[in-house]
Amino acid sequence: MSTPAEAPVVIVGGAMGGLRAAEALRRAGYTGGVKVVGQELHAPYNRPPLSKDVLSTVVTHEAVAFPERAATADVDWVRGVSATDADLEARTVTTDDGEVHPWKALVIATGLRARRLALPELPGRQAIRTLDDAIALRAQLTDVARIVVLGSGFLGCEVAATARKLGCDVTIVSPSDLPIVRPLGRLVAGEIQRRHEAKGVRFRLGRTVEHLDGEDRLTAVALDDGERIEADVLVEAIGSDCNSEWLAGTPLDLTDGIRADAAMRAVSTDGMAHDDVYVVGDIARFPNLMFDDVPRRVEHWNIPTDTGKRAGAVLASWLANDGSFADAVAQPFTPMPSFWSNQFELALQAYGLPSLADEDGIRLLDGELSGDAIVGYYRGDRLVGVVGLGMKAALLPYRATIAG
Ligand SMILES: Cc1cc2nc3c(=O)[nH]c(=O)nc-3n(C[C@H](O)[C@H](O)[C@H](O)COP(=O)(O)OP(=O)(O)OC[C@H]3O[C@@H](n4cnc5c(N)ncnc54)[C@H](O)[C@@H]3O)c2cc1C
Repeated sequence: MSTPAEAPVVIVGGAMGGLRAAEALRRAGYTGGVKVVGQELHAPYNRPPLSKDVLSTVVTHEAVAFPERAATADVDWVRGVSATDADLEARTVTTDDGEVHPWKALVIATGLRARRLALPELPGRQAIRTLDDAIALRAQLTDVARIVVLGSGFLGCEVAATARKLGCDVTIVSPSDLPIVRPLGRLVAGEIQRRHEAKGVRFRLGRTVEHLDGEDRLTAVALDDGERIEADVLVEAIGSDCNSEWLAGTPLDLTDGIRADAAMRAVSTDGMAHDDVYVVGDIARFPNLMFDDVPRRVEHWNIPTDTGKRAGAVLASWLANDGSFADAVAQPFTPMPSFWSNQFELALQAYGLPSLADEDGIRLLDGELSGDAIVGYYRGDRLVGVVGLGMKAALLPYRATIAG
């Protein structure tokens, strides 16, 4: 199918992944049209502060916005619209305002949305994914507020710590038996629970919320063991769902996000990689040969940047049509997953994929768990991840070991 030469590259999803892909296209020398179609009205902003420092002050867009760069000043931003459909043959995307956007290449950057409890809507229920979520939550975090956080992953624990620092009464309810146990393992998870409890956070582990009390507003949550906890706010931090429904009519492999190859080209269910369709950020399920060839989604802050750069560079060489494309695709792509988390005085930093470690492959490498420490995560003999509780500088040499 031929596309008018003047059709732009269309990037769907106007957050960090979309922005980084646009910047990378320009950096790689592509000078043609770029249009970004995004649901949010805000210019791209940084999400990590939304559950941390920004949440404890006044939350504003200026506090979290990414700086605008001259190279992308001519990008056409279409904000406040959602893609509802894509046609990979006709090379179009349709949005919920009825517009049809032709493209010569498509970048998918639609990320995730907060998963919600299947319970009736009631003021006091709060997700935390967007700036608007954080603004709404901040307004409810008064020092007399009773907060129940459902979910004990990074997000749940960060919100709990921030709310507690603001003086709120905080209970974490979670189906897990330890907080943040899946990504960090039991050794570190137990220590995180201890530190939260020392600051006055209560845990109800192995439990979930079954029922909400309140007429005009939440007054209490009922747990599945019958316990009733009085609450002004229920923060639902129970994970995320991929924003991939708009691609349902395409042949793309939409299992757990959107499958991509190591060049970040979207892959169909028959295994075919599309030279004109790319996937970046949280929604991309791609192989990282630093570990193995299994495609995985990685929800860390550096991934939209690394995959955006990779997709932009490969796509620019395809658009250049100068014979460089095969080389660009063949370049190795082994981004180092890295994430951090701040909870009370704890500054946690991680490299690699600790969740790949064997069950008995988690070892204290340095320091004391109850203070500053470095914990290693091994698959067989191989270090696949490292987590620092403090000790940021001492962590760096392990990063090189993981990279191999
Ligand atoms: C509160 C919070 C705290 C975090 N803290 C950390 C941290 O401390 N450390 C760390 O490593 N990572 C952290 N992360 C993860 C990190 O922020 C994400 O990995 C990153 O934001 C993902 O960027 P993305 O562009 O891929 O996706 P998203 O940020 O999800 O952006 C996707 C964009 O696409 C839009 N969109 C969705 N569907 C459509 C559609 N159909 N049409 C048009 N637009 C659409 C969405 O509205 C959104 O703007 C945190 C995330 C959150 C939410």
